[in-house]
Formats: sequence, structure tokens, C-alpha cells
Amino acid sequence: MAFLSDTLARVKPSPTIAVTNKARELAAAGKDVIGLGAGEPDFDTPQNIKDAAKRAIDAGKTKYTAVDGIPELKAAICAKFERENGLKYTPAQVSVGTGGKQILYNALMATLNPGDEVIIPAPYWVSYPDMVLLAGGTPVPVVAGIETQFKLTPAQLEAAITPKTKWFIFNSPSNPTGAGYTRAELKALCDVLMRHPHVWIMSDDMYEHLVFDDFEFTTPAQIEPGLYDRTLTCNGVSKSYAMTGWRIGYAAGPVALIKAMGTIQSQSTSNPCSIAQYAAVEALNGPQDFLKTNRVTFQRRRDLVVEMLNRAPGLNCPVPEGAFYVYPDISGCIGKVSAGGTKITDDEVFATALLEEVGVAVVFGSAFGVSPNFRVSYATSDEVLREACGRIIRFCEGLK
Ligand code: GLU
Repeated sequence: MAFLSDTLARVKPSPTIAVTNKARELAAAGKDVIGLGAGEPDFDTPQNIKDAAKRAIDAGKTKYTAVDGIPELKAAICAKFERENGLKYTPAQVSVGTGGKQILYNALMATLNPGDEVIIPAPYWVSYPDMVLLAGGTPVPVVAGIETQFKLTPAQLEAAITPKTKWFIFNSPSNPTGAGYTRAELKALCDVLMRHPHVWIMSDDMYEHLVFDDFEFTTPAQIEPGLYDRTLTCNGVSKSYAMTGWRIGYAAGPVALIKAMGTIQSQSTSNPCSIAQYAAVEALNGPQDFLKTNRVTFQRRRDLVVEMLNRAPGLNCPVPEGAFYVYPDISGCIGKVSAGGTKITDDEVFATALLEEVGVAVVFGSAFGVSPNFRVSYATSDEVLREACGRIIRFCEGLK
């Protein structure tokens, strides 16, 4: 349509949101559909956080706030970085946005010029490349496949860096694979980055608290203080505190970048929701035992899902270190024909057939840049997961 901008021709709607919406619509229409598409915790937001929001409403905290966050929240974020990551930031180094998504978007909009390259390890979260494109930059996906447990090697990072590289986007534990880099693995990547002072690091730490077994979460600015001055450490309350709908994300980094991000935000959405900001203060400053209980629940679900999916003929499901996703490989299903008569030519066809034939919604791997795979979000009850995985097993057993 001639009316639409050229920018729009470069991007597509978010596939994770599309699958989530489709599953929701089918369920509302009375179809027996299990949605494993949405990347959001099924738990309710903890009561102390909800109460803080109610108090904020009653106290009239319902007006515009400072564009990039109220002082109380910035202070809580500084305290969180120091407490949990050993990182010292001042409030002037902190920006709060409407979800982690807006934070990343602001940073890219504030820094990218045409021709600037952004290195994105694949599988990647669906929105990274499209946000880079919206901001006029060039995404440079680098495939880190199942053979390296979906983790980028230092040699791959080194080879991808050019004089035009502006950012390296790092996400551990990862959406969509759940892969988490150990301290040593991250240090090795940081060593590469230390040799290339023109490359900035955007670390998306959204899944920080969702790590299992004895996995230790680490973030680049903490592992290599030499990178502190060119790292944007991004996080949010959505996944850790079951607050996806409240839309509060944040980041800390160099003051000049934070200021530029504020300029972009001041001309788009102004401040994040005032009430949600007060709720986020309570999330970060209040009791943290919720995180531990969550972790235990998610680890149990991970084990259940991995065990069941590996029973499905043609699937190979690695055990991830964190997040609430698994990313099984479906190479063994390609070329077969489903019980419903669909020839499985790729992962998108697989996901569509899975939805139509057994009523399980997952996100196809090509959306995340590595195929043939699909992403399961296991942020739902054990009972539902057991039923859904049972259906996936049945579907795979039916492939001839
Ligand atoms: N981050 C979640 C996901 O990957 C939420 C949806 C989205 O923003 O992509 O499913």
C-alpha cells in the first residue's frame, strides 16, 4: 500500500505475539487449544506488589512522571544492580521504559545510523532484528546451533565483528533456547569485545532470575569491568516478578546514552505508567522469596517437558540452563507426513499442523532464526504441560 512507509516494508509483526493471539482466539471460540506460545509466567503478580500499586492509586500517583522513571524506582534499580550483580550505577545512569522492549528500542533508535551493524546470536528473540531494522541499522545474525548448545563461540563473535559493528546483543539465559552462558564462556566473549573498543554491548538480562541447578547468572559489565563504559545492562520486572502486563523495563549504562534514550522516549510515550512504576519499586525492594519458589517450579517443569519431548520420535530437546523455554530440533520429522495428511517441509508447517491436528500452539523456529525447531514456553501448569507434551508425542508418533 503506497500510503505506508518504507520502514514498514522492512519489518514484520511479532510472531510470538501472533501465535499467542491466535491461540487465545481459538480458545475463545471454544476450540481445545493449549497455548505454549506466550513467553509469560502463568503466576499471578505477588500480592505485596499489587498492594503497592493500589496504594499508589489511592495516594494520587496518577500523573505524568519524569520521562525515564521516578526517583524511587531509579534508586531501587541502582540497589538491585549493586545487590545482585555487583554493579554500581547512579540514578542518572538508569532509564525506565514501558517494558524491556521499549528500552531496547530506545537504545537502538538513539544510536543506529544507516549501515551500522548489530551482531545478534541466533536463535534470537524475534524482536531484535526487526527493532534494528526499524532503527535503520543492519542486523547481523550469527547462528549458534544445537552443536554448541545454542551458544556463540568467541571465534564466531570475532569473525562477525567489522568496522561497522555498533552493538553486540547478548541474551543469557536466552529466549528462545533457555541457553545460559557460564562465567567462563561469557568471559571468553568479553575478551573478544575488549579487543574491539568500537563495539557496544547490549545485555538483555530479562531471564536473570530464572536459572536452574547450580547455574550462576552473570552479565558482561560485571564479568569484565573494562566493558562497563560501553555496556547497556537491560532488565525488567516482567518475567522475574510475573508482571508482564505492567510493562516496566529498565537499563543502566553510560549517562550520554541514557540521556539520548530519554530524548527518544520523551517524543514517543513520555513516562512509563506511574502506577506500574510504584509497583516495580515494591517488586525490587520488597521480599524476594517469590523468586526462589518460582525457580523451583520452573525447574520441575523444565525437567518434565524435556523428558517428555525427548520421547517424541524425531525430536531432540536439549536441557537448557534457564528461562522458561525449550527449543527442540525437529530434523527427524522433516519430509514425513502427519496423520492429518500434511507433509512436514519445515518448522512453520510443523507448528501449523501441530495446532490444527492436536491443538497445541508453539512458535516455529524460523521466527527465531534457526531451523528446523520450535519454541515451547513451559510457563504453565504441570498438568497442562503433561497434556500438551502428550499431544506432541502423539503427533510425532503419527508422522510417517
Ligand atoms: N518476550 C515474550 C516472548 O518471547 C513476550 C512476547 C514478545 O514480546 O515477544 O514470547
